[in-house]
Amino acid sequence: DTIGANLDRTAARVGDHEALVECASGRRWTYSQLNADVDACALGLDALGVHMGDRVGIWSPNCAEWVFVQYGTAKLGAILVNINPAYRTHELAYVLRQAGISVLVAAPQFKTSDYRAMVAEVRGDCPDLRDVVFLGDPEWERLLATGRAADRGRLAERAGQLSADDAINIQYTSGTTGFPKGATLSHHNLLNNGFFVGEGCGYTEADRICIPVPYYHCFGMGMGNLGATTHGATMVIPAPGFDPAATLQAVQDERCTSLYGVPTMFIAELALPNFADYDLSSLRTGIMAGSPCPVEVMKRVVSEMGMTQVTICYGMTETSPVSTQTGADDDLDRRTSTVGRVHPHLEIKVADPDTGETVPRGETGEFRTRGYSVMRGYWNEPDKTADAIDADGWMRTGDLAVMDDAGYVNIVGRIKDMVIRGGENVYPREIEEFLYTHPDIADAQVIGVPDERYGEELMAWVQLRPGAPPLTAESLRQFCHGKLAHYKIPRYVKIVDAFPMTVTGKVRKVEMREVSVDELG
Ligand code: ATP
Ligand code: MG
Repeated sequence: DTIGANLDRTAARVGDHEALVECASGRRWTYSQLNADVDACALGLDALGVHMGDRVGIWSPNCAEWVFVQYGTAKLGAILVNINPAYRTHELAYVLRQAGISVLVAAPQFKTSDYRAMVAEVRGDCPDLRDVVFLGDPEWERLLATGRAADRGRLAERAGQLSADDAINIQYTSGTTGFPKGATLSHHNLLNNGFFVGEGCGYTEADRICIPVPYYHCFGMGMGNLGATTHGATMVIPAPGFDPAATLQAVQDERCTSLYGVPTMFIAELALPNFADYDLSSLRTGIMAGSPCPVEVMKRVVSEMGMTQVTICYGMTETSPVSTQTGADDDLDRRTSTVGRVHPHLEIKVADPDTGETVPRGETGEFRTRGYSVMRGYWNEPDKTADAIDADGWMRTGDLAVMDDAGYVNIVGRIKDMVIRGGENVYPREIEEFLYTHPDIADAQVIGVPDERYGEELMAWVQLRPGAPPLTAESLRQFCHGKLAHYKIPRYVKIVDAFPMTVTGKVRKVEMREVSVDELG
């Protein structure tokens, strides 16, 4: 099925039901109203000359218009290109050119970034870019008005030409390990995954999903919006960018039943000084995904936020995104120590990264997946696509995993982050979990740095709790002594206020390594 046809069906089924709430402005849409605005946006873009397969860029923090453009482009069979709100001119120009974007819809500004000025600066270098429409400008209002006045027969005509396998979205990866890559996805990829994620959370029309994760990323637009619209549930946008207080306020005011986030977001919410003042009693479920979650945090999400059915999802942009999910009935131990089991209609295996042969249960290997969720490829990068998807259609995730006898998967870390010290494989995650138990440590990240004697040595970057006494490398090693094998004890310790992060809230270890290598000389 196509994404547009699916939204039409939901609107026909639960038209009067609330579809979308934008907390910052107080605006609300029922499913009929949302679908009407989506159609207006589609027909307005059509009037601008957007054809099937044309690339339409969206550069904006979360807002209702993002949703119109997401579903509007899908109804036209145009390819939506999600542009990271944190980009600056160099990256913006790269995406506009790399994807050959002809129409760009953008917010005029976000936080301290003047998008208008940045677009003006790069526009001359982007020959494909024909039209730029800023949200809220008269051009945007005109686009919607043109669409509302247009002949609706046009949309039916377009719908007849669409195929579920058409590419309709280019989503860039987070850029955690290097430069972001543009994963090309179809209706079939995205719609099915959104549906099954929603099933995994047990969504019905009664659910109200708080989405503080960015729409530009698959977590927001796929697991959030498509998870909701396939089930007639309500999407709640707490704020344009991530704001922990606005998020909990939205949960309270909108009586949300589900809350999404990467671990760093939940950590920020739990750390709010007035955390206990929010009424979060409506929360039932939610999704924690994107990076490994410290066990202590997961426990607090369940006990203090009341998300007793919270599920863990694991996946990547290239696989639409989810491959595994924990079940609502899994015990807390499973939900803290694993990322669940294979999603419906997908295959997964843990394989030797070199041969692709499945390793025995309980042993570490590369996580691979095959099935409907695997992307069509990286946009215009056939060599990278060939490296990522093997001849039999298995996606190489670059993540190290262990599968137990019951099929539950534990993500051990990324192949690129694994440290080989004196011939021993060291998985930073294990050490990070241990450092987390130190009473003065708020967060810790471990990397490998080059070492003449051992090949690599371990270095811990540590964030201390407010008011904690200074911590020396020696005292931290003392803390590890006798509890961790000697080769897992970090040689270097660096105290920091923050880690370098992606907009999706992931720690950029590439950057940590660069900085550390420089500093160590
Ligand atoms: P890039 O590919 O540009 O380096 P990225 O891999 O972070 O960035 P995404 O597609 O946003 O880009 O993230 C997918 C990755 O996130 C997975 O490959 C995995 O390493 C990590 N990940 C996702 N979910 C989980 C989870 N529940 N637990 C642990 N790691 C996770
Ligand atoms: Mg990746």
